[in-house]
Amino acid sequence: METRTPQTEPVLGEERSAAPGHPMRILIRPFFACRLCWRITFAVFALILAVEAVILVPSARHFAANERQLLADQVQILIEPLLARHPPGAAPPDLRPALGQYGVAGISLHAPGVAWVASAGEAPELPGESIDMMARPFADGWSETTLVAAWLSPSMTGHLVAVRADASAIAPRLHAYVARVAGLVALIVLVVTVGTMFVIDLSVLRPVLRLRESSLRAGSEPESAERFTVPTRRQDEIGELVRAHNSMLQQISDSRRRDRELAEERAQFLAHHESLTGLPNRAALLEHLDREISARGATLLLVNLTQFRSLNAGFGTGIGDRILRDLALRLRSGAGASGFVAHLGADRFALALPGVLPAGDAALAAETVLRSLALPFEYEDGISLSPPARIGIAQSGSRGEDGPALLAQADLALSRTYWAGEVGYQFFSPSLALDARARQELARDLKHALERGELFIALQPKFRLAGEAFDLLAGAEVLVRWRHPSRGLVSPAEFIPLAEASGLIVPIGAFVLDAACGQIREWQARHVHAPRLAVNLSAQQFGQPHLLEAIERAMLRAGIPPDRLEFEITETAAMRDVERTSAILVAMRSLGVHVSIDDFGTGYSSLNYLRRFAVDAIKIDKSFVDDIGADHHAEAICDAILRLGQSLGTKVIAEGVENESQAQFLRQRRCDEAQGYLFGRPVPAAEFEKLHLRGKEIALAPVY
Ligand code: C2E
Ligand code: MG
Ligand code: MG
Repeated sequence: METRTPQTEPVLGEERSAAPGHPMRILIRPFFACRLCWRITFAVFALILAVEAVILVPSARHFAANERQLLADQVQILIEPLLARHPPGAAPPDLRPALGQYGVAGISLHAPGVAWVASAGEAPELPGESIDMMARPFADGWSETTLVAAWLSPSMTGHLVAVRADASAIAPRLHAYVARVAGLVALIVLVVTVGTMFVIDLSVLRPVLRLRESSLRAGSEPESAERFTVPTRRQDEIGELVRAHNSMLQQISDSRRRDRELAEERAQFLAHHESLTGLPNRAALLEHLDREISARGATLLLVNLTQFRSLNAGFGTGIGDRILRDLALRLRSGAGASGFVAHLGADRFALALPGVLPAGDAALAAETVLRSLALPFEYEDGISLSPPARIGIAQSGSRGEDGPALLAQADLALSRTYWAGEVGYQFFSPSLALDARARQELARDLKHALERGELFIALQPKFRLAGEAFDLLAGAEVLVRWRHPSRGLVSPAEFIPLAEASGLIVPIGAFVLDAACGQIREWQARHVHAPRLAVNLSAQQFGQPHLLEAIERAMLRAGIPPDRLEFEITETAAMRDVERTSAILVAMRSLGVHVSIDDFGTGYSSLNYLRRFAVDAIKIDKSFVDDIGADHHAEAICDAILRLGQSLGTKVIAEGVENESQAQFLRQRRCDEAQGYLFGRPVPAAEFEKLHLRGKEIALAPVY
């Protein structure tokens, strides 16, 4: 896990405030930018102003009173010596020398009970209060320009002195005093405000701006939020706030990192796993194989569900998906701790086993897988499915295979199981690669087979199971044959898939249809009663847009009645496009030809669909008939198909009947018809006629 040291780089706010310039500008700029500072400063300013106002007004009053008192005292000190020099009982003293000094404008001297004894200048009115009590001069009146002072003279006992003096000099001093005090206050306000701002800026604003900046940056890069933690050693509330912020950033980046790691793990998982089954995917398998091959070698089993498409078409992807998931679980639990199970796509799984196993052990592993998959998967609505599977096996060896090469070999082996037409398993061998080449040659030869007349038809009889001593011929299946100039007879199971892959199936199908129609016409021309001939239609032929016209043309060309013809469509082909199939089946039957579903039971037709298909017959697949008498499960399927046919009013034909006990089983369950080596092998038409038509009874049409 990546750890980063807490960032010490300046946060954005600092960058802005730390722009180059004079240190004072650096200091002052944030003040002006700071709304909080302004608010606090204004509050402090108003507060100090209010306090000063409360203090200044009385102190100004006090100052003025003091000044006036001082003036009165000076006037007294000036006048008392004049009175002291005056001998008692002499004429009233001359007070004029005092005039003009200290702003004295008038003086009056009063004896007790006498208005005045002497006066000089503009003598003041006597103050009305109890003046005789005064030891110090009494400074009367609140006037900026005049002072009236009065006192009981200590020099002339019992006399009262009253003086009017000019006090206009006091006002400027008072103003100067007020200005001094106000200036001082302004200075204090300034210093306190600046100091407050400075302290707020340093201790609150800057940390808060740092936190803001750190939050913004962390918000824009949450994955590395921890890089923006703000270092602090403070132990106060701001320190706690910063530490809480830092721990939040740490948590954010931890949680983001966890989220990212989880997302990466998920992406990694998805890149290496199939989303549907949760199993490792192809890429993971190849990595695993490469590792195993270089460590101890590997055995690869490539498993393919052969009928998965038709299963999906028949039951819908819901069931298809469930089958895949259940199958994945089954494979996984059967693989043990050392087996590596992968899901390579819809119907493909792989099981990689460690080491190059002896062939017997590898075969045993494949059989075990096939057996485990053969156990039916049970779903609601009574749906029980056991999708047939095939396995291609490849083992790492001396050819220096890597994962992809081993997978390609297993793939080739798998494809060989198809050509062999069996459900089972197949080992890769170098000759398979040659077989692939041989098949290419065969495909090339097939192109010329039609022109060279190497294809012909064989007929295999179908018998009506009478339930009594003998059975009646009900018809025959038309099976194409290829006599290859050098290889001899080539099985249709081998060349029909080749023809389908190359598109040759369409002309080959047309040839078979023409041959069948021609045979019927020929029999009719010779007045031999022609049985109904069943022609196989491959999936590709069935998908041809002009199928109906082609059938009609063939019948017209031969001039045969349509009820002499039957068409077999495999269940898998029918289920590819259910809507289209039901429409075509209706159209085919309206032509007058018969239609049957071939290889029934292998394609997972849902019964609902089968009801929608207008068919004359269903043919139980040979694989179920094979197991009659050996496997209860197969018998149960045959039984179920027979009941189904009876309930739908559709004829049921069993194919591949090889022994009497199978025939007996089918008779007992009122199977309509049977086809198989027990009744007759596919043979050329002439032989068919000899074996089954001459002197034999035929179930005359229209019977069904
Ligand atoms: P299918 O239509 O299911 O034909 C039945 C196959 O089972 C035939 O094999 C037949 O010879 C074989 N069979 C019948 N009874 C028995 C029996 O008792 N035991 C055994 N072991 N086999 C039996 P064949 O002729 O090799 O044909 C194989 C498949 O090739 C056919 O299966 C059909 O799907 C296809 N095919 C054959 N001819 C044509 C054709 O003309 N056109 C198309 N499109 N497909 C054809
Ligand atoms: Mg058939
Ligand atoms: Mg068949």
